[in-house]
Amino acid sequence: MRISRWVSSLFHRRAPTRPEVSASTPRPGPTPAGDTFTPAGPMRVSVGRATGYSALERQKLDRAMVKLGEVLSSREFKDAVLGHTFAGKPGFASDERPPAEIYAVIRAAKERYTSSADGEVDVNLELRSLSWFHRGVVGYTSEGSDTITTNRRHFAGFDEAELAGHLGHEWLHTLGFEHDFKATARRPFSVPYALGDLIEALAARPQLTPL
Ligand SMILES: [Zn+2]
Repeated sequence: MRISRWVSSLFHRRAPTRPEVSASTPRPGPTPAGDTFTPAGPMRVSVGRATGYSALERQKLDRAMVKLGEVLSSREFKDAVLGHTFAGKPGFASDERPPAEIYAVIRAAKERYTSSADGEVDVNLELRSLSWFHRGVVGYTSEGSDTITTNRRHFAGFDEAELAGHLGHEWLHTLGFEHDFKATARRPFSVPYALGDLIEALAARPQLTPL
């Protein structure tokens, strides 16, 4: 069994809610949020703030972010999302929306801390050495936060594809996608888990087909 790579859920509900809006990443977008967003061209990725990263760690982060953008902009990713099934039906666990709607939400990229759907992955990132007690925690983000925290212990062992998968999982939370708190049988089929794993697998491929 995999280690608890996404113990992040632990923090999702426990962290205090900060109703503030980040001033670091909001940007006006040309298109309103929602499932009608139809971006053209590749998805851009933007790191607004990255704290705790050394120069070398930042290089690794940037390469992973490029991969994340390539995956999200690929035909392979789109086809896998649209074709995803859970319990024999199109869709995902913990989400009632059809795959096409889920894909549209991803492409719209309206993070909870950005003011509109701009079709761009906007993230603020923090690298921290979590305590031994939290050694199983890969990273987390929480409801009221505009930041994705990654545990340096795991970051160090990740290749770029694994890092892209982790960042993808947490970024999907910032779009409102959730999963079970506990490691239920259906949790791997939730949007953050299923697509985090998909992003990792696609990021490891030498070549992807742009949309
Ligand atoms: Zn999670």
